[in-house]
Amino acid sequence: MNTMPQLLQGKKGLILGVANEWSLAWAIAQAAHQAGASLTLTYPNAAMEKRVVPMAAQLGADVMACDVQSDADLAALAHHLAPGKLDFVVHAVAFANKEELRGGITTTTRAGFALALDVSCYSFIALAAHLKPCLNPGASLLTLTYEGSTKVVPHYNIMGVAKAALESATRYLAAELGPEGIRVNAISAGPVNTLAARGIGGFTGMLKHHEKTAPLRRLTTGEDVAGAALFLLSELGAGTTGEVLMVDTGAHILGPTPADMA
Ligand code: NAP
Repeated sequence: MNTMPQLLQGKKGLILGVANEWSLAWAIAQAAHQAGASLTLTYPNAAMEKRVVPMAAQLGADVMACDVQSDADLAALAHHLAPGKLDFVVHAVAFANKEELRGGITTTTRAGFALALDVSCYSFIALAAHLKPCLNPGASLLTLTYEGSTKVVPHYNIMGVAKAALESATRYLAAELGPEGIRVNAISAGPVNTLAARGIGGFTGMLKHHEKTAPLRRLTTGEDVAGAALFLLSELGAGTTGEVLMVDTGAHILGPTPADMA
């Protein structure tokens, strides 16, 4: 029996970033569907289309192509969605060259910097700009970030810089769109074993450390992230905007541990 309150009954939402069953976007899509939303999912290219179309069918969701680096794709997405109007948008998209998520920040190339910032940060601004005419008053925009934005995490490198920019963009968007009743927030998730995360050097070690040391002594799950997303996307979050909500089983509160200090 589905006991999830129908927090998004009658709402229309767009979710970018479903790659497979482990994607955080997929956990959010499933929870939003259970909460009564009707959804549009996107895929960035033909290879991903094959994967995302059958997943969307499970939720009775619409599907659209959208490579967030393409203004033409963003314009087509807005054109396609305009008649129905949207109540929420989830941006769960990030990319950096794998070789720049190894070693230190000085491995970053100029082209790699531009690519990571374009896909992982500018795309949220561009999405908001293109979709503005499609948003209902009270609409909620949500992006996903990671604590490597404010603290140095080994190998996270350029992605930490991109997430810092993304969190700042969240605040600027919230300030600009707030007078129109549009909220903009980010969830900062603890490490979850997804396709994108596996590209980060030493990710398995990061998971082990998190599980051992986080106050709740467990890893963050897709369901944890989806629960927080339902809060921010629904009326429950009506008074919250410009926020970076930590959903990491408490890990961010820790300073140096006694073992480090021995
Ligand atoms: P994921 O399943 O691999 O999702 C990342 C998505 O970004 C994929 O669907 C990927 O498509 C898409 N993407 C990359 N470049 C794109 C482009 N140009 N246009 C459109 N889509 C593009 O990994 P995830 O961990 O769920 O990531 C979702 C978000 O959560 C990211 O912003 C990530 O940084 C954030 N996050 C993740 C964690 C974690 O530990 N997993 C923690 C905190 C925050 P392709 O597969 O085709 O590239």
